[in-house]
Amino acid sequence: MRIVVTAALVLTTTGLSADPGLDEAVTEPNVFAHVQALAEIGELHGNRAVGSAGYEASAQYVERVLRAAGYQVTSQTFTLPHYREVSPAVVTAAGVPVTAATFAYSPSGRVSGPAQAAGTGCHEADWAGFRRGSIAVTNRGGCPFRVKADWAVWAEAGALIVVNSKPGELKGSLSEPGVTLPVVGVAPEARFEGTVTVETSTASSTKSTRNVIAQTTQGDPDDVLVLGAHLDSVEAGPGINDNGSGVAVVLEIATQMARMRPERAVRFAFWGAEEVGLIGSTHYVKGLSPQEKAKIAGYVNLDMVATKNHANGIYDSDNAIEDAAREFYERRGLPAEEVAFDGRSDYGPFMKAGIPAGGIFTGAEDIKTPEQAQRYGGSGNQAYDPCYHKLCDTIENVNRQVLDVSGDAVASMVEKLAFDRGPVR
Ligand SMILES: [Zn+2]
Repeated sequence: MRIVVTAALVLTTTGLSADPGLDEAVTEPNVFAHVQALAEIGELHGNRAVGSAGYEASAQYVERVLRAAGYQVTSQTFTLPHYREVSPAVVTAAGVPVTAATFAYSPSGRVSGPAQAAGTGCHEADWAGFRRGSIAVTNRGGCPFRVKADWAVWAEAGALIVVNSKPGELKGSLSEPGVTLPVVGVAPEARFEGTVTVETSTASSTKSTRNVIAQTTQGDPDDVLVLGAHLDSVEAGPGINDNGSGVAVVLEIATQMARMRPERAVRFAFWGAEEVGLIGSTHYVKGLSPQEKAKIAGYVNLDMVATKNHANGIYDSDNAIEDAAREFYERRGLPAEEVAFDGRSDYGPFMKAGIPAGGIFTGAEDIKTPEQAQRYGGSGNQAYDPCYHKLCDTIENVNRQVLDVSGDAVASMVEKLAFDRGPVR
């Protein structure tokens, strides 16, 4: 990115600049410095997965940078259930193995006893005459799995086996921790005679994590543009393109905007627990009152913006956010294309709440076409990001040219959307 001297002069003479110059102020070396900081945390802690030491170190880094720039930083803490299967279920009937799958959020346990059918297990009547300590066998359907499990606990069953109504094994979920007996699913042909043993081995707990949020003191606080990126990574790797890149861009824009005067206030959000189901952004949007929701003019999402084998994707959001991104790439003479606006990242909850959303995205695990390789360079018939959700999503997996362009794109979009107060819809 270019540093334009006139913009710097405006800043030194007036202190605050009405002239944005954000595109010039946001430079690639500064953005990359945040990427490096997150990469160092990755080397130290392995990843930034929800509930990990790496996530906490990353949240603290973001807070430090924002505070140093002069922001008041808010932390929004929330909890989420965490579940992991330690080893596959082992089920036998009269000593013969039966293929079974542990239900998510089933506790660990090893229980033996006679099997006893309990209908669908959805109603008290299904459990009439059920013998305490027996292994309950219910059919799929009629009510959520959790309801069956709660009834089985009530009837003091030793374990619960749910029989699929369609061919194949049944993999179900109890939605959250709390069930106190092992629960497994089986295929319709499974038979339970003689003594049945059910053994599960899982780790199920409640984790606590947080979103980190800051807002400009300048600009109308009743008309806010939100700029967000998920701060967590998967457990498999350090998540530097996904989504250290987005975090770095948002953080540097925040740093530069601390001295600027947008018309709309800009809120910067670093979401927790995106990789396990958009939990942080969903928690945030659900926690907004109707009045707070109405004050959000739009939400711009950044999730993977420095992809090695990139394409310049613009979420197909059909609003001023998409237009602002398109204008930027056109002005630079760079190719760009629409990408699915399907709710796969943190803009999803905003979309669902009726808040105009959008953003840019330079590619994940999908395959780049030969035509795209001609337009953007790079390799056709290969993944945009070969290290997506892998151990190799390190600093080596960051395309600095793409990071540079993405930083400029977002700066230019924010100029358009926050310094000029046009409609975002
Ligand atoms: Zn991501």
